[in-house]
Amino acid sequence: MEKKILLTEKEIPSHWYNIIASMPNKPLPPLHPGTRQPIGPEMLEPLFPMELIKQEVTGEKYVEIPDAVREAYKLYRPTPLYRAYGLEAALDTPAHIYYKYEGVSPSGSHKPNTAIPQAYYNKQQGVKRIVTETGAGQWGSALSFACNMFGLECEVYMVKVSYNQKPYRRIMMETFGAKVYASPSDHTESGRKILAADPHSPGSLGIAISEAIERAAPDPDTKYALGSVLNHVLLHQTVVGQEALIQMEKAGELPDIIVAPFGGGSNFAGLSFPFLRLNLEEGKKIRAIASEPLSCPKLTRGVFSYDFGDTIGMTPLLPMYTLGHEFVPASIHAGGLRYHGAGVIVSQLLKDKLIEARAHAQLECFEAGVKFARAEGIIPAPEATHALATVFQEAAKAREEGTRKTILFNLCGHGHFDMQAYGDYFAGKLEDHELTDAEISDLTSKLIAV
Ligand SMILES: *Cc1c(COP(=O)(O)O)cnc(C)c1O
Repeated sequence: MEKKILLTEKEIPSHWYNIIASMPNKPLPPLHPGTRQPIGPEMLEPLFPMELIKQEVTGEKYVEIPDAVREAYKLYRPTPLYRAYGLEAALDTPAHIYYKYEGVSPSGSHKPNTAIPQAYYNKQQGVKRIVTETGAGQWGSALSFACNMFGLECEVYMVKVSYNQKPYRRIMMETFGAKVYASPSDHTESGRKILAADPHSPGSLGIAISEAIERAAPDPDTKYALGSVLNHVLLHQTVVGQEALIQMEKAGELPDIIVAPFGGGSNFAGLSFPFLRLNLEEGKKIRAIASEPLSCPKLTRGVFSYDFGDTIGMTPLLPMYTLGHEFVPASIHAGGLRYHGAGVIVSQLLKDKLIEARAHAQLECFEAGVKFARAEGIIPAPEATHALATVFQEAAKAREEGTRKTILFNLCGHGHFDMQAYGDYFAGKLEDHELTDAEISDLTSKLIAV
């Protein structure tokens, strides 16, 4: 009974998988916010290096991973795949539960999988500095690490509620040499505008994105980087699923159900897309479930519509499931899941019913997280506990039905920088937040229907 299924460095995948090539309905194009016409790649040039723009729009099924990136991946890849014997026993389920563990990366989550290639392609193009936003601090830590690795400067706008809740994340970024600002900040026009309207704004990913874009767009030496949502980010994350495919094969099983937490879609896409290829091309029937918070339910209660990726409305309009770009979610501890929208690829897949989504309350998630920690010895990131809540439901269903399902989920990060969140949970300080229908229709009524 193998607990850990490991691969060698030689088995680090040579290619990322681009699911667009296999999709029956391709995602709709992004639109120019002024003209409402599809934008060309040139509109992205002020923000991203050419190689990433090419990856953003490519229809090629496989994109080769550069040698320098595979070399950098060796620091922590291939990551282990575990069979969760302890959890299966704790849940008294006949289901076989597996998890891919991305918490072994330098910043403790899946985010370096895209931070590394993004820093690499920027460096190749002669860029000097990358500016970005971060929610819980996971993306900022990953990018700070990757920028330092490739000799780039890094500037991070960190959502204020997280900046205050997670000083260690900020210090981690500073250790890797980054400059970190609490967002909304008085460092940008966008930040000052928000602060004028609400000096106590807790911030949001959308606001922080606006600040970072404002810094990068006019400066040719400075580019912007996004840790989720965009096609090239999802593409890079497929290194996770490409490895997991081989590992599940070694385990002699194919998952019936794949589960991952959902912020903008990158870790969900990363694990599930290489498996969904088997559905799209070989007629397999693997279910992929995206787990989101009840307090930020864009997939389960949002609308499929064109919307801005940021709060101020500077980005192209993206066709996606959204709660409206003005949505400011409750200050829940899963900071990485507090984004109003979803990646366009994942949105199209959900619209076509090729994937599923489920929402969970914060307390239910922490309860699952604690149970998992006691059964498996790894303390999950608060984001990852959303996947656990879904896994628990599916494991209970397998027990009730007496079926032996195989479940694979993405343990996309550890919670070592989130102990305050666990402390608040133990102290009974955490609350559940659920939006009313009226709040949702208020937020989404102004959006442009597709
Ligand atoms: C950023 C993050 C998420 C959410 O982002 P996705 O792009 O949806 O993956 C989830 N979990 C962890 C640990 C994160 O760092």
